[in-house]
Amino acid sequence: MDAVDEIIDVHSHIYQYSREELEELTSYTPPFKIIGVGENLETSKVVIELADRYSGKIIPCVGLHPWNVDNSRELDGLLSLAISEQIDCIGEVGLDKKFVGGTFNKQAEVFTRFLEYAKENNSVLNIHAAGAWREVFDLLLKHDIGRAMFHWYTGPVDLVRDIEYAGYYISINAAIIIQEKSRKIASVIPDNIMLLESDGPYNYRGLRLSSKYILKAAEIVGKLKELDSREVIIRANQNARRLFKIL
Ligand SMILES: [Zn+2]
Repeated sequence: MDAVDEIIDVHSHIYQYSREELEELTSYTPPFKIIGVGENLETSKVVIELADRYSGKIIPCVGLHPWNVDNSRELDGLLSLAISEQIDCIGEVGLDKKFVGGTFNKQAEVFTRFLEYAKENNSVLNIHAAGAWREVFDLLLKHDIGRAMFHWYTGPVDLVRDIEYAGYYISINAAIIIQEKSRKIASVIPDNIMLLESDGPYNYRGLRLSSKYILKAAEIVGKLKELDSREVIIRANQNARRLFKIL
């Protein structure tokens, strides 16, 4: 089986890695192309710096994570950063009822600003929607959003078709190696909207997530979909290139 030419990781907290880990991830074979999300103003700036340093290997997003909406005063700064640096991707943004439901109203206020910005600029949204899958989906439609992906999708199975019809994408996390729920979902995600991600270096039940696990994850997805792992990666890469306009 031929090796794949690259692996696109569509959701990573790249700035959280050590310098050594970054060097390893950016000189890996097959090469990674990593979509790096920001969680607030400071980390969004670091992601932009890393994308400059590792040009072509890291694609930057700027955002305010729904866990960080206490920093909503940074919102104007984030949106002007996106404009001044011509950042196409907004993330990590969204809503969370699973881990931080108590701030939901504030989250919705912040997310609405990002939705309005994305609509106006045709930006792509890299979305966190834990426990709020349907709410986020409805908001995307309401704001007539053209480009969006649901990161680490573990939402309702019956929403998957709606997401497909609306033209949005769903990303499968490398945690599928140990997460049963991800396996259930992966088997119903249509190949034409499937993406792959790590959410690295987040620690999921003792597994320090990394782009390096995507290959293994693709093997599992392949078994579920009766495709070989190379085909899974090729299709996910094609989808990622289309969504993120990667040439
Ligand atoms: Zn994340």
